[in-house]
Amino acid sequence: MFRRRAPLFLFVVVILIDSVQCRFSRPVEKRPSTPEAALAALLEGNQRFLAGALRHPHQTQRRVREVENAQHPFAVVVSCSDSRVPPEIIFDEGVGDLFVIRTAGNLLGNLELGSIEYAVEHLGCPLVVVLGHTECGAIKAFLSGGECHGHIRDIIEALRQEKEEQQILQREGKNLNTCIEGNVIHGVTQIRQQPVIMEKMKRKEVNVVPMIYDVHTGKVSVINETAWLEAHAFLPIGDKK
Ligand SMILES: [Zn+2]
Repeated sequence: MFRRRAPLFLFVVVILIDSVQCRFSRPVEKRPSTPEAALAALLEGNQRFLAGALRHPHQTQRRVREVENAQHPFAVVVSCSDSRVPPEIIFDEGVGDLFVIRTAGNLLGNLELGSIEYAVEHLGCPLVVVLGHTECGAIKAFLSGGECHGHIRDIIEALRQEKEEQQILQREGKNLNTCIEGNVIHGVTQIRQQPVIMEKMKRKEVNVVPMIYDVHTGKVSVINETAWLEAHAFLPIGDKK
Protein backbone atom coordinates (compact mmCIF):
# COMPACT_ATOMS: atom_id res chain seq x y z
CA MET A 1 0.00 0.00 0.00
CA PHE A 2 2.68 2.49 1.13
CA ARG A 3 4.95 1.36 -1.66
CA ARG A 4 2.30 2.27 -4.22
CA ARG A 5 1.79 5.72 -2.66
CA ALA A 6 5.47 6.45 -2.14
CA PRO A 7 6.02 8.28 -5.46
CA LEU A 8 3.06 10.56 -4.75
CA PHE A 9 4.37 11.21 -1.22
CA LEU A 10 7.83 12.13 -2.55
CA PHE A 11 6.29 14.37 -5.19
CA VAL A 12 4.37 16.31 -2.51
CA VAL A 13 7.52 16.67 -0.38
CA VAL A 14 9.51 18.00 -3.36
CA ILE A 15 6.79 20.54 -4.17
CA LEU A 16 6.68 21.70 -0.53
CA ILE A 17 10.48 22.13 -0.33
CA ASP A 18 10.45 23.98 -3.63
CA SER A 19 7.78 26.45 -2.50
CA VAL A 20 9.53 27.07 0.85
CA GLN A 21 12.85 27.74 -0.92
CA CYS A 22 11.09 30.10 -3.34
CA ARG A 23 9.62 32.05 -0.47
CA PHE A 24 13.01 32.48 1.20
CA SER A 25 14.89 33.49 -1.92
CA ARG A 26 12.80 36.45 -3.01
CA PRO A 27 14.94 38.97 -4.90
CA VAL A 28 13.77 41.94 -2.82
CA GLU A 29 15.12 40.37 0.39
CA LYS A 30 18.51 39.49 -1.05
CA ARG A 31 19.02 42.60 -3.08
CA PRO A 32 21.69 45.06 -1.84
CA SER A 33 19.78 48.25 -1.06
CA THR A 34 22.51 50.84 -0.44
CA PRO A 35 25.20 52.15 -2.83
CA GLU A 36 27.90 50.68 -0.57
CA ALA A 37 26.31 47.23 -0.39
CA ALA A 38 25.70 47.20 -4.15
CA LEU A 39 29.32 48.12 -4.89
CA ALA A 40 30.57 45.46 -2.46
CA ALA A 41 28.33 42.85 -4.14
CA LEU A 42 29.72 43.68 -7.59
CA LEU A 43 33.33 43.56 -6.42
CA GLU A 44 32.75 40.28 -4.56
CA GLY A 45 31.23 38.81 -7.72
CA ASN A 46 34.28 39.85 -9.71
CA GLN A 47 36.52 38.28 -7.07
CA ARG A 48 34.64 34.98 -7.53
CA PHE A 49 35.05 35.34 -11.32
CA LEU A 50 38.81 35.89 -10.90
CA ALA A 51 39.18 32.99 -8.49
CA GLY A 52 37.23 30.59 -10.71
CA ALA A 53 34.69 30.23 -7.88
CA LEU A 54 31.55 31.34 -9.74
CA ARG A 55 28.22 30.82 -7.99
CA HIS A 56 26.07 31.50 -11.08
CA PRO A 57 23.34 33.00 -8.89
CA HIS A 58 19.81 33.53 -10.17
CA GLN A 59 20.26 31.55 -13.37
CA THR A 60 17.54 28.94 -12.95
CA GLN A 61 13.94 28.62 -14.11
CA ARG A 62 12.93 29.28 -10.52
CA ARG A 63 14.58 32.70 -10.74
CA VAL A 64 12.76 33.37 -14.01
CA ARG A 65 9.49 32.76 -12.14
CA GLU A 66 10.57 34.87 -9.15
CA VAL A 67 11.02 37.97 -11.25
CA GLU A 68 8.41 37.37 -13.95
CA ASN A 69 6.13 40.15 -12.70
CA ALA A 70 8.61 42.72 -11.42
CA GLN A 71 12.32 43.48 -11.61
CA HIS A 72 14.48 44.77 -8.77
CA PRO A 73 18.02 45.06 -10.16
CA PHE A 74 20.52 46.40 -7.63
CA ALA A 75 22.93 48.14 -10.02
CA VAL A 76 22.98 49.87 -13.38
CA VAL A 77 26.04 48.90 -15.39
CA VAL A 78 27.00 51.02 -18.38
CA SER A 79 29.61 49.05 -20.26
CA CYS A 80 31.14 48.81 -23.71
CA SER A 81 29.42 46.50 -26.22
CA ASP A 82 32.78 44.70 -26.56
CA SER A 83 32.10 40.94 -26.40
CA ARG A 84 34.87 40.52 -23.83
CA VAL A 85 33.03 42.60 -21.22
CA PRO A 86 29.75 40.82 -20.37
CA PRO A 87 28.58 42.35 -17.03
CA GLU A 88 26.54 39.42 -15.68
CA ILE A 89 29.48 37.06 -16.18
CA ILE A 90 32.34 39.21 -14.88
CA PHE A 91 30.28 40.21 -11.80
CA ASP A 92 28.84 36.68 -11.34
CA GLU A 93 25.22 37.81 -11.26
CA GLY A 94 22.07 36.49 -12.89
CA VAL A 95 18.55 37.17 -14.12
CA GLY A 96 17.06 40.35 -12.67
CA ASP A 97 20.24 41.51 -10.88
CA LEU A 98 21.78 44.11 -13.21
CA PHE A 99 20.24 46.80 -15.41
CA VAL A 100 22.73 46.85 -18.26
CA ILE A 101 23.29 49.49 -20.92
CA ARG A 102 25.93 48.72 -23.53
CA THR A 103 27.18 50.87 -26.36
CA ALA A 104 30.51 50.98 -28.19
CA GLY A 105 32.90 52.92 -25.96
CA ASN A 106 30.22 52.99 -23.20
CA LEU A 107 29.07 56.26 -24.71
CA LEU A 108 25.93 57.92 -23.40
CA GLY A 109 23.35 59.81 -25.41
CA ASN A 110 19.87 60.88 -24.38
CA LEU A 111 18.34 57.42 -24.79
CA GLU A 112 20.97 55.82 -22.57
CA LEU A 113 20.65 58.59 -19.96
CA GLY A 114 16.88 58.06 -20.00
CA SER A 115 17.40 54.34 -19.38
CA ILE A 116 19.63 55.11 -16.39
CA GLU A 117 17.09 57.59 -14.98
CA TYR A 118 14.37 54.95 -15.34
CA ALA A 119 16.42 52.35 -13.46
CA VAL A 120 17.26 54.78 -10.66
CA GLU A 121 13.90 56.49 -10.34
CA HIS A 122 11.45 53.68 -11.05
CA LEU A 123 13.38 50.53 -10.18
CA GLY A 124 15.25 52.03 -7.23
CA CYS A 125 18.79 51.06 -8.29
CA PRO A 126 21.16 52.46 -5.64
CA LEU A 127 24.29 52.23 -7.81
CA VAL A 128 25.30 53.26 -11.32
CA VAL A 129 28.61 52.01 -12.66
CA VAL A 130 30.38 53.17 -15.81
CA LEU A 131 32.65 50.31 -16.81
CA GLY A 132 35.35 51.08 -19.37
CA HIS A 133 37.89 48.46 -20.37
CA THR A 134 41.48 48.09 -21.49
CA GLU A 135 42.11 47.69 -25.24
CA CYS A 136 38.82 49.44 -26.08
CA GLY A 137 38.40 49.44 -29.87
CA ALA A 138 36.29 52.60 -29.86
CA ILE A 139 39.02 54.61 -28.13
CA LYS A 140 41.69 53.02 -30.36
CA ALA A 141 39.73 54.02 -33.46
CA PHE A 142 39.36 57.56 -32.09
CA LEU A 143 43.09 57.82 -31.40
CA SER A 144 44.10 56.35 -34.78
CA GLY A 145 42.26 59.22 -36.43
CA GLY A 146 41.38 57.21 -39.54
CA GLU A 147 38.39 57.82 -41.79
CA CYS A 148 35.11 56.33 -40.50
CA HIS A 149 31.84 55.84 -42.32
CA GLY A 150 28.17 55.69 -41.44
CA HIS A 151 27.22 55.95 -37.81
CA ILE A 152 30.66 54.82 -36.64
CA ARG A 153 31.61 58.41 -37.40
CA ASP A 154 29.15 59.50 -34.68
CA ILE A 155 30.98 57.38 -32.11
CA ILE A 156 34.32 58.96 -32.98
CA GLU A 157 32.77 62.43 -33.03
CA ALA A 158 31.24 61.91 -29.56
CA LEU A 159 34.69 61.00 -28.21
CA ARG A 160 36.28 63.97 -30.00
CA GLN A 161 33.87 66.31 -28.26
CA GLU A 162 34.62 65.07 -24.76
CA LYS A 163 36.55 67.73 -22.84
CA GLU A 164 38.50 65.02 -21.05
CA GLU A 165 39.77 63.52 -24.32
CA GLN A 166 40.66 66.95 -25.68
CA GLN A 167 42.68 67.83 -22.59
CA ILE A 168 44.48 64.47 -22.43
CA LEU A 169 45.47 64.72 -26.11
CA GLN A 170 46.68 68.27 -25.61
CA ARG A 171 48.73 67.60 -22.48
CA GLU A 172 49.72 63.94 -22.63
CA GLY A 173 49.33 62.85 -26.24
CA LYS A 174 47.75 59.59 -27.40
CA ASN A 175 47.94 57.61 -24.17
CA LEU A 176 45.42 54.81 -24.70
CA ASN A 177 44.79 53.87 -21.05
CA THR A 178 44.47 57.48 -19.93
CA CYS A 179 42.03 58.16 -22.77
CA ILE A 180 39.99 55.07 -21.77
CA GLU A 181 39.86 56.30 -18.18
CA GLY A 182 39.09 59.87 -19.29
CA ASN A 183 36.10 58.57 -21.25
CA VAL A 184 34.81 56.74 -18.15
CA ILE A 185 35.24 59.90 -16.07
CA HIS A 186 33.29 61.77 -18.76
CA GLY A 187 30.49 59.18 -18.47
CA VAL A 188 30.14 59.42 -14.68
CA THR A 189 30.20 63.23 -14.88
CA GLN A 190 27.47 63.19 -17.51
CA ILE A 191 25.27 60.91 -15.38
CA ARG A 192 25.77 62.98 -12.22
CA GLN A 193 24.66 66.12 -14.05
CA GLN A 194 21.16 64.72 -14.62
CA PRO A 195 18.72 66.30 -12.12
CA VAL A 196 17.13 62.97 -11.14
CA ILE A 197 20.51 61.47 -10.27
CA MET A 198 21.83 64.68 -8.68
CA GLU A 199 18.89 64.78 -6.30
CA LYS A 200 19.30 61.15 -5.25
CA MET A 201 23.04 61.60 -4.81
CA LYS A 202 22.44 64.54 -2.47
CA ARG A 203 20.31 62.25 -0.31
CA LYS A 204 23.01 59.57 -0.51
CA GLU A 205 20.53 57.15 -2.04
CA VAL A 206 22.57 56.68 -5.21
CA ASN A 207 26.23 56.63 -6.12
CA VAL A 208 27.86 56.78 -9.56
CA VAL A 209 31.17 54.94 -9.75
CA PRO A 210 33.84 54.78 -12.49
CA MET A 211 35.39 51.36 -13.12
CA ILE A 212 37.81 49.69 -15.50
CA TYR A 213 37.79 46.05 -16.62
CA ASP A 214 41.12 44.57 -17.63
CA VAL A 215 40.58 42.26 -20.62
CA HIS A 216 43.99 40.66 -19.94
CA THR A 217 43.15 39.48 -16.43
CA GLY A 218 39.38 39.70 -15.93
CA LYS A 219 39.81 42.10 -13.02
CA VAL A 220 37.52 45.05 -12.37
CA SER A 221 39.01 48.06 -10.54
CA VAL A 222 37.34 51.18 -9.22
CA ILE A 223 39.02 54.30 -10.58
CA ASN A 224 40.20 56.49 -7.70
CA GLU A 225 38.67 59.64 -9.10
CA THR A 226 40.39 62.17 -6.86
CA ALA A 227 43.80 60.67 -7.57
CA TRP A 228 43.02 60.40 -11.29
CA LEU A 229 41.84 64.02 -11.57
CA GLU A 230 44.89 65.18 -9.67
CA ALA A 231 47.34 63.06 -11.69
CA HIS A 232 45.97 64.37 -14.97
CA ALA A 233 45.51 67.97 -13.79
CA PHE A 234 41.74 67.83 -14.10
CA LEU A 235 38.94 69.28 -12.07
CA PRO A 236 35.46 67.86 -12.47
CA ILE A 237 33.66 69.74 -15.22
CA GLY A 238 31.70 72.67 -13.76
CA ASP A 239 33.65 72.51 -10.49
CA LYS A 240 36.08 75.45 -10.66
CA LYS A 241 37.86 75.35 -7.32
ZN1 LIG B 1 35.30 48.98 -25.87
